[in-house]
Amino acid sequence: MKPNVKDLSKEQFTSHLKERGQHSYRAAQVWQWLYQKRAVSFDEMSNLSGALRRQLAEDFSISRPRIARQSESRDGTVKFLFELADGETIESVLIPEMHRLTLCISTQAGCGFGCAFCATALMGLKRNLRASEIVDQVLEVSRMIDPHPSLSLEGRGQEERSLEGRGQGRGISFGAGERRITHVVLMGMGEPLANYTQTVKALECLTDATWGIGISPRRITLSSVGLVPQIQKLMEETRVNLAISLHAANDELRGELMPVNRRYSLKQLIDCCRSLPIPRRKRITFEYVLLKGVNDSDEDARGLCRLLSGVRCKVNVIPFNPHPDSSFERPGESDINRFGQILLEQGFQVNVRRPRGDDIQAACGQLQGEQGTKDEGGRRKDEIHSSSFILHP
Ligand code: SAH
Repeated sequence: MKPNVKDLSKEQFTSHLKERGQHSYRAAQVWQWLYQKRAVSFDEMSNLSGALRRQLAEDFSISRPRIARQSESRDGTVKFLFELADGETIESVLIPEMHRLTLCISTQAGCGFGCAFCATALMGLKRNLRASEIVDQVLEVSRMIDPHPSLSLEGRGQEERSLEGRGQGRGISFGAGERRITHVVLMGMGEPLANYTQTVKALECLTDATWGIGISPRRITLSSVGLVPQIQKLMEETRVNLAISLHAANDELRGELMPVNRRYSLKQLIDCCRSLPIPRRKRITFEYVLLKGVNDSDEDARGLCRLLSGVRCKVNVIPFNPHPDSSFERPGESDINRFGQILLEQGFQVNVRRPRGDDIQAACGQLQGEQGTKDEGGRRKDEIHSSSFILHP
């Protein structure tokens, strides 16, 4: 098997080309073809000589993950099931909103953290994803949305403007005509910080405006169960936004819901958050899955306020998304609102998240790869609600 060119860093690739007597700017050109023009073969790289293209094709392959299935929710959310080269499956979820198009990507196949309420936890950890497999989710879904990216960075800007408001066209079209992924959240399957090196490598490629895809780090959010040393490292090494899954305001309950709390206590986690070098205008997001009768009382809300007092943050309250293998329940509307209200009254910025794509098991904590996708009759659940659409006309 030839190595996948996307598994090389730009430095490694540059020295590879230099060894072959090529100028280093050729490396940037290849990278732009891969990440900005989303090339799937060296043949397409028309500003390289035929000889160089042939040489590269002899030395390397270009990975392209297979979309094994896609399902569209009634609310427009689209879930993609990717099959990786070794047959493992992961999921990404595309979430259209008014002026943004967010892609939620996976960093591991499965997850080893065993959070009590999460569907992905039931799979266990299959393996870490490589940086290229993390980035490929963004590239492949971008191909679906816009099969023909324009050919230069400057051109890209013009294309965006001219497309605004144009509505339906080739491929998938959303809301205000947004045809490119504007935001990325690392909130799919897996714990990104347990796959630290590959995740940071992927982030470099996603954010690099010259060589890579060029998504601003301000538009990228990484969510973690709370691995304290890696959180510190991440905030020193990148400028992406941080979200932390909290889900309880005392160690006893958090330990039951999230076994990771036995390794890093709430005190360690919150002390770490207070000490992070976060720019003044930025805030940490705390996620709090609301579970009926478990962590949704007034006392729980007040405990959360005490815990987070003085931390510059916002709180995302996520009403539990049910899945077949869980006995947890979502609280009623009035309890959800009351919980949010208590936080608001204490001066917190609160966002009660409405589930997206829950009819296709694409909402938070419902991602399970190939498992759990059949109902009792053996039908695929997402065959029931999915509707297909034209991708490459
Ligand atoms: N491992 C990381 C990334 C996953 S993000 C993390 O835990 O932060 C997914 C978010 O959805 C996490 O906050 C997770 O706790 C939450 N979640 C998991 N199962 C859920 C469910 N069934 N309903 C609502 N949110 C859930």
